[in-house]
Amino acid sequence: MKLNFDNQFAALGDKFSVSMKARPLPNAHMACINPLAAELIDLNLDDLKSDKALKFLSGHEIIAGAEPVAMVYSGHQFGGYSPRLGDGRGLLLGQVRNKHGKLWDIHLKGAGQTPFSRGADGRAVLRSTIREYLASEALHHLGIPTSRALCVISSDEPVMRESLERAAGLIRLSESHIRFGSFEYFYYTNQHDDLKKLADYVIDIHFPSLRGDPEPYDMMLLEIAGRTAQMIAQWQAYGFAHGVMNTDNMSILGQTFDYGPYGFMENFDPTYICNHSDDMGRYAFNKQPNIGLWNCLALAHALSPLISPATSELMRGHYQAKYFERYNKLMTQKLGLLKSRKKDAALVNELLSLLANHKIDYTIFFREFSDHLALPLILKEATSAFEQWFCNYKARWEKEKLSLKQRRKNMQAINPKYILRNYLAQNAIEQAENGDFSEVDKLLRLFKKPFDDQPEMDNYAHETPDWGRHLEISCSS
Ligand code: AMP
Ligand code: MG
Repeated sequence: MKLNFDNQFAALGDKFSVSMKARPLPNAHMACINPLAAELIDLNLDDLKSDKALKFLSGHEIIAGAEPVAMVYSGHQFGGYSPRLGDGRGLLLGQVRNKHGKLWDIHLKGAGQTPFSRGADGRAVLRSTIREYLASEALHHLGIPTSRALCVISSDEPVMRESLERAAGLIRLSESHIRFGSFEYFYYTNQHDDLKKLADYVIDIHFPSLRGDPEPYDMMLLEIAGRTAQMIAQWQAYGFAHGVMNTDNMSILGQTFDYGPYGFMENFDPTYICNHSDDMGRYAFNKQPNIGLWNCLALAHALSPLISPATSELMRGHYQAKYFERYNKLMTQKLGLLKSRKKDAALVNELLSLLANHKIDYTIFFREFSDHLALPLILKEATSAFEQWFCNYKARWEKEKLSLKQRRKNMQAINPKYILRNYLAQNAIEQAENGDFSEVDKLLRLFKKPFDDQPEMDNYAHETPDWGRHLEISCSS
């Protein structure tokens, strides 16, 4: 196996990360592999399936050029500052420059204890590994920026959570594992020279067009805030709840990052809390846009030694503008309206209230509404409340001067048929825990094309069965 390592982050030195070896996953097997992610680092499938790859990725061997490190960071968790987090169970195994010149982090989640483990076991369980594997790829194919997943490695090491489970490893790929909390660490420990060093690294590697800017750090903050706002606009439009939007889980690239107790909206409920451990509902679905801003303000505060005080305020306006621009566009597109008009926001909001009042499945509503210019069958007896809305909608839609065929095509391209419902993930996990990973593979293939009709997979587009509606997903992973 040949990988073109270029470990730029490790080269920043030991204030930024701790050089260390993974604790090997015992009896490791390559349980699931994702060929599309392998391409990102120019890895062919034979190489990925080789013994050498397994040994490297499961922590048994360090291959030439790799320099595993645990990254240092801190962050705001549920609103309170935690001064020292860091990779407590993950390692950046190395960075690979691909044939297009792009740098990819290869990160093993579940690599064993590090100096940042704070007494915990350093492992990840198979269940949470599969959840991240599936969700990150599902979001990617919906067009939402996200880290990627290369493979799941199973192991027979027992680990204790609420009950006894098995350890596993996830190989995550991302252009960066730097979080808002990476900057917070250097700010709150008064290491402002290193704060600047980190900012220069981020600009150099990720935002090279800012290199010559007279105010590079201010511009970097605006860039990160704009990306974050747009990512969250996409979450809201597709009905994705992240669950743990702590600043240590916010990527500086504005990518969906560190999947835990996430959830996709089923019966529409703006106050949906996907994380069973989030008692206060801090990260409820409808709070995500404001929490995103709160997190960007925390980042601005951490960058305060490098930026002008006015930039924080400017950033607030920029975030909101980017958020609403993207969100309004997506929502009107979901309704088949191409040119956004002023009154469209009201049409969207009225619809969302109706969906909430009648607890209608969000994904199925929009998909059925894409297929026909008529109220969807999913409404069942709830139709009368929707009829007035539909009249207004139709009058508005007629101004678009589109054929019905074109309407269907446009709307099907933005309203997915298939989303990763918790119960689908749960089924795949239960089979995987019995040693059968075929359902995970099947879901991965399905979510590669969430907008396409896949007739043999129709079952996977149905409403969630009763047993699958109340699965409790907690922080434990
Ligand atoms: P997370 O909730 O996964 O975003 O993790 C928050 C912090 O807890 C990070 O510093 C993780 O590295 C650490 N952490 C989570 N689970 C474990 C574990 N099983 N062992 C060690 N550290 C962990
Ligand atoms: Mg995390």
